[in-house]
Amino acid sequence: MQELTHYINGVHVKGTSGRFADVYNPATGEVQARLPLATPEEVNEAVAKAAIAQVEWAKVNPQRRARVMMKFGALINEHMEELAELVSREHGKTIPDAKGDVQRGLEVVEVCMGAPAMLKGEFMDSAGPGIDLTSMRQALGVVAGITPFNFPAMIPLWKMAPAIVCGNAMILKPSERAPSTALRLAELFSEAGLPDGVLQVVNGDKEAVDSLLDNDTIQAVGFVGSTPIAQYIYGRAATNGKRAQCFGGAKNHMIIMPDADIDKAADALIGAGFGAAGERCMAISVAVPVGKDTADKLVAKLLPKIEALKVGPYTSGDDVDYGPVITAASKERIVGLIDSGVAQGATLLADGRGFSLQGYENGYYVGPTLFDDVTPDMDIYKEEIFGPVLTQVRADNYEEALKLVMDNQYGNGTAIYTADGDTARDFASRVNVGMVGINFPIPVPLSYFSFGGWKKSAFGDLNQYGPDAFKFYTKTKTVTSRWYSGIKDGAALNFQALD
Ligand code: NAD
Repeated sequence: MQELTHYINGVHVKGTSGRFADVYNPATGEVQARLPLATPEEVNEAVAKAAIAQVEWAKVNPQRRARVMMKFGALINEHMEELAELVSREHGKTIPDAKGDVQRGLEVVEVCMGAPAMLKGEFMDSAGPGIDLTSMRQALGVVAGITPFNFPAMIPLWKMAPAIVCGNAMILKPSERAPSTALRLAELFSEAGLPDGVLQVVNGDKEAVDSLLDNDTIQAVGFVGSTPIAQYIYGRAATNGKRAQCFGGAKNHMIIMPDADIDKAADALIGAGFGAAGERCMAISVAVPVGKDTADKLVAKLLPKIEALKVGPYTSGDDVDYGPVITAASKERIVGLIDSGVAQGATLLADGRGFSLQGYENGYYVGPTLFDDVTPDMDIYKEEIFGPVLTQVRADNYEEALKLVMDNQYGNGTAIYTADGDTARDFASRVNVGMVGINFPIPVPLSYFSFGGWKKSAFGDLNQYGPDAFKFYTKTKTVTSRWYSGIKDGAALNFQALD
């Protein structure tokens, strides 16, 4: 069986802990590799080596750093098929979806090619007699990226590209369930000219993460994963004096107004609810039709589309709409939540529990599931299901639908389908959610904007990628200088204006 490694100072390094995690192929249920789980000593050594590399990397001028990004971007493009295959093999998503995963990460690398323009400081001449002010953006040092299983290419790229182009070194701790894409990306980054040690991939579990959080050299932590872990990591990083941004889970609602194009809304719900088996933090898991008529029409449109969905292994190519969920435990949890929905009185219109595929009986498949008449007290509403389960909560009017979204503990993404500009505008303005779609189901902002939720979907400051990332991964230094030529000045004991 394949034994995976860490990637330290530009080479693959075997783990020494003797502890391993099994990496499964979720399409078949087979263990396909084992992954070493780093000890605190291995983590600290990787950080110490990164700190040495970072000093030199920060001296490389921004234009040259950007050129490494250009080569890295070209290599990602060149290896698109291979990277997508790696993503699908460990995550289970279809190849076209895996290419989207790589592509949305690549777009962040592309924005980093223009980093010099983002890293310029500010200058004010003659702010007082002979006085000039300069503010500059400097790298933080060594930073950590801790990423989830569901976007094995995109989220590591969201972390590594902005951090590194700003002059930092990064320790990336990818998900132990889908680590191979990050390891391959690190190789490609080296091939693009990144000096050894600037990107270290350390594999591990809680022990490795805690070592990063407690290591004094680590200046900032960028985390993406579930809400309880995001909150934990944010707390521990902040207590240890680190800058932290920790993005968590979600429960994204889509409101469907009576004037919406129901066909388009139904198509959007199928894609956003069941794509990637619902394992997206921007998946729509709650449909909120306004009015009985809208709800009935929507169900009538959704059911045949759900019945037509093809579930299977990514190796079946175009014959598959979505694949398995990530682990046996995840499947069991999703099935348990569907059971709870039935027990708590929701109407089960499509039941994915008994789904089985000939030849793939041990894969972690869940068929598409649709619940109607869901209420906010039910577990299927309260919990992030992270599976191919769409729930419908009926609302009598727009205000009731909006209140549902507003009262939810999560605030990652949301959408409204309507033909009315006033309603759309009101929704975008009032809703307390970070990313909003108007007749657009998964409003992940493009890479020159930035990504972040509100409420329990994000802890800490600033968003991921885009202009915010350049702020998160640099600190500002402001220099006030005075040159005395022609200026008469005595001792000043008072704190004073510069005029
Ligand atoms: P997860 O929280 O289980 O794991 C994320 C990372 O944290 C992994 O690297 C893991 O090794 C580490 N980790 C897990 N338990 C830990 C612990 N006790 N202490 C320290 N580290 C620990 O998340 P996941 O299951 O890999 O990913 C799915 C979750 O991520 C979903 O909740 C999804 O909504 C969320 N997500 C959020 C965003 C976003 O941008 N808001 C994007 C993608 C995924």
